[in-house]
Amino acid sequence: MPSQDKQQMFSFEFYPPKTEEGAANLKVVHTTLSKQNPEFFSVTFGAGGSTRDKTFDTVVSIQAQGLSAAPHLSCVASTKENIRSILKDYQDHNISRIVALRGDVPSGMMSPGEFRYANELVEFIRQETSDHFTIHVAAYPEVHPQAHSASEDFKNFKRKVDAGANAVITQYFYNAEAYFYFVDNCEKHGITVPIVPGIMPITQYTQLFRFSEMCGADIPRWMRKRLESFGDDRIAIQAFGTELVSKLCQQLLDGGAPGLHFYTMNQSAPTLAIINNLR
Ligand code: FAD
Repeated sequence: MPSQDKQQMFSFEFYPPKTEEGAANLKVVHTTLSKQNPEFFSVTFGAGGSTRDKTFDTVVSIQAQGLSAAPHLSCVASTKENIRSILKDYQDHNISRIVALRGDVPSGMMSPGEFRYANELVEFIRQETSDHFTIHVAAYPEVHPQAHSASEDFKNFKRKVDAGANAVITQYFYNAEAYFYFVDNCEKHGITVPIVPGIMPITQYTQLFRFSEMCGADIPRWMRKRLESFGDDRIAIQAFGTELVSKLCQQLLDGGAPGLHFYTMNQSAPTLAIINNLR
């Protein structure tokens, strides 16, 4: 069973709501989740700056409630001037934590911008703002889908830590071994920053399969077959998903994971069901 201390190490990810109704719903969700004493809430950023204002507004509104909020910032298709002005806005609002990413070039967008990879963004943030921000970066225990090889991907991941990242959040996965292997490899290469597993609760499967395909998260065959067998029975899918993901979280914490980062999809119930099982 995780101790009280482990509870302090949860973080929860949201996407910026598009409508007023979505914003009102998110307020209820983060107020509910705040009772778990998370380390921080993070808010995603559309590649190319498509959600710049909405990410900013969401982060500032969470922070205004006395909670710690961390914007994601992706650098693809962006200029240095643009990133500089975003960093300044966050500094002016006392935001001191950031999740630094490359992002994916939206289809049809021609200009790649002034950054190619996330390590360049981390380096730029350090150059511009010194130690103001605690910087989190992404890692892929099951290997980034565009990587030439697992070893190249690991070297590229290490560049981000060497450039000054303080902590790591992983892509979600359902194979705990992939995470433990990745952490061992980090230890072998002298990487000592915390590697926090990203956790995706399971609430439905078509979208999960599609998304996993795109981001390179493996859904093991037995799990896929089980999920398919539930058809449209959402209650059965959620019950199976909660049990499975709770066991995964327990295994990760028991194996030494320093915390858990939940991809909440702006819902509190699936994440809370898992956390309650960990108690
Ligand atoms: P990078 O670390 O730059 O890696 C991307 C690819 O390039 C990898 O294949 C890597 O091996 C290779 N590479 C890296 N550096 C080099 C180098 N110097 N030379 C050669 N090759 C290199 N996307 C969003 O748009 N908005 C978000 O808010 C967002 N939040 C996320 C949060 C988390 C926790 C995670 C895990 C992902 C998130 N993503 C988000 C998705 C992410 O932007 C994509 O996975 C993207 O494809 C890679 O981003 P990265 O920062 O890991 O890129």
